[in-house]
Amino acid sequence: MGRLVAIVGRPNVGKSTLFNRLTQTRTAIVDDTAGTTRDRQYGKVDWCGKEFSIVDTGGWVVNSEDIFESEINKQVYLAIEEADVILFVVDAMNGVTDLDDHVANILRRSKKPVILVANKTDAGESRFNVPEFYSLGLGEPYSISSANGSGTGELLDEIVKDL
Ligand code: GDP
Ligand code: MG
Repeated sequence: MGRLVAIVGRPNVGKSTLFNRLTQTRTAIVDDTAGTTRDRQYGKVDWCGKEFSIVDTGGWVVNSEDIFESEINKQVYLAIEEADVILFVVDAMNGVTDLDDHVANILRRSKKPVILVANKTDAGESRFNVPEFYSLGLGEPYSISSANGSGTGELLDEIVKDL
């Protein structure tokens, strides 16, 4: 199926909104309630004539951080197994959380190519929190807004640069 890009990250950071933005569909379920996306959703993206597949992960139906950790582990290990590139989405409104640190540790150990994506930079002063994400040890964060699309062109350029 060509290149597969997996979107991972803790609930409510905007993974499904990003999936919809990149695939230009409304098929992933986006909701204010953490954990609304059921299971996994696959789509295709064409950027400047370069195609790749993308998967939105995260079927959480709970809202306790403890249960999230085991659920997120499953999704992250599956992404590491099946994907060629991982988009690790974090929330610039919140800054770094313990769960972000946890996921970053797994991803760093995996040696998979990871693109760190700081979402929701449209919201208030959140863009000023972005440098915090350097502490995750995954390189430079891409500042984006899945809601209004800012920064997603640069992100897409990076995803397809070696295709
Ligand atoms: P997921 O659980 O990671 O899939 O997150 P969702 O895509 O369902 O989004 C969770 C919430 O964050 C929803 O209320 C979205 O409207 C909101 N959201 C997602 N992306 C952005 C963004 O770029 N900016 C702002 N301000 N809100 C966003
Ligand atoms: Mg979702």
